[in-house]
Amino acid sequence: MTGLDKQTIRDIDAHGKRVLVRVDFNVPMHDGEISDDTRIRAAVPTIEALRAQGARVVLMSHLGRPDGAVVEGLRLAPVAVHLSELIGVPVTTVRDCIGSEADSAVAALEPGDVLLLENLRFHSAEEANDPDFAASLAKLGDVYVNDAFGTAHRAHASTEGVAHLLPAVAGLLMEREISIMGGALTDPEHPFVAVVGGKKVSDKIGVLKNLIGKADHLLIGGAMANTFLRAQGYKMGLSFVEATSVSTARAILSEASHAGTVIHLPVDLVVASHLSSSVETFIVGVGMVPDNTMAFDIGPATTERYADIIRSATTVIWNGPMGVFEMEPFAAGTIGIAQALVQVNGTTIVGGGDSVAALEACGHADSVTHVSTGGGAALEFLEGIELPGVAVLRDRAGTTTH
Ligand code: ADP
Ligand code: MG
Repeated sequence: MTGLDKQTIRDIDAHGKRVLVRVDFNVPMHDGEISDDTRIRAAVPTIEALRAQGARVVLMSHLGRPDGAVVEGLRLAPVAVHLSELIGVPVTTVRDCIGSEADSAVAALEPGDVLLLENLRFHSAEEANDPDFAASLAKLGDVYVNDAFGTAHRAHASTEGVAHLLPAVAGLLMEREISIMGGALTDPEHPFVAVVGGKKVSDKIGVLKNLIGKADHLLIGGAMANTFLRAQGYKMGLSFVEATSVSTARAILSEASHAGTVIHLPVDLVVASHLSSSVETFIVGVGMVPDNTMAFDIGPATTERYADIIRSATTVIWNGPMGVFEMEPFAAGTIGIAQALVQVNGTTIVGGGDSVAALEACGHADSVTHVSTGGGAALEFLEGIELPGVAVLRDRAGTTTH
């Protein structure tokens, strides 16, 4: 799936229409303040484009996990204030996403006006994909736009149900996410290098399998590498090894060798007696992990090898940190990968919640081609799964779901 086969806001005439836009404004908040506005800024191009077309823009999003109840701290009003500053026009809000107040607020909109509905997840019907709730939302628009890549892997009323009831197209952020990541997966410029780390093989089996036969090189790090090294017969001391995934790791190694993907595993590791930011660390070769230690990062020789392979790539996809990057003694591997990534002359893509956090912590988020705004959604996309919020959008070929 490249997703280029889906219609976007460029394929519709929004002039004077009420355009119901699902955005992902699920931003981190601390004491009522937005601590990272990346997701709000990411939605601005779509909002601006619709306003320029003379649309009446009705935005909807979830925020946090209110689980079907009204939680005062999870109202979207602060987001509306911030969005208003970004786009330079007022953004009105309502106290509920459906019902008479929402109906009248939408009816009062003039072309170019922007309204942000209240947190969708104040209603449990949202996550339940309840048809009546979807119908109440659909009443608020003539056209539906999904720009919420981060929630596209969930079939909720605002991401899936409503799209059956209105002409449904992708927003510009959705288009960008799908075309860049989809392009890399279906038609990458070679050499194509994939870097996969993180904690568990079992979390990433789908991603690993989807990359085999596509990537020229697959670089494995993180705790996941421990399981692969165990599969190759190495002693891993007290390191986190997912015993139930050792046979899976073995199968992946054998599959890759037949499919033309070279899998690289660490040649050295950073070990310590326990996980702490003040613990004494040691660099050991694989096979030399002392019985009473655990591996928490790839070693410097591995980092250098991986960095060389990355720098010679034309397409790189990275998901999963190389070590416990949250602690300084175990961050070097992840930092080394981030530094190599920004030197690539080609397309570089980073997806996954912790991977993006690690890239941001290194200060390199602006230097890669694409940082996915979707954690779980990016992971499912990399697994090759068609996201329900995307599947339901109008096909470009003219065959529509309506
Ligand atoms: P993403 O969110 O990018 O998909 P994951 O959630 O799979 O990434 O993995 C990130 C987590 O893996 C981090 O919290 C990191 O501390 C942990 N991790 C990485 N390497 C190790 C290791 N060697 N031992 C224990 N935990 C690790
Ligand atoms: Mg994670």
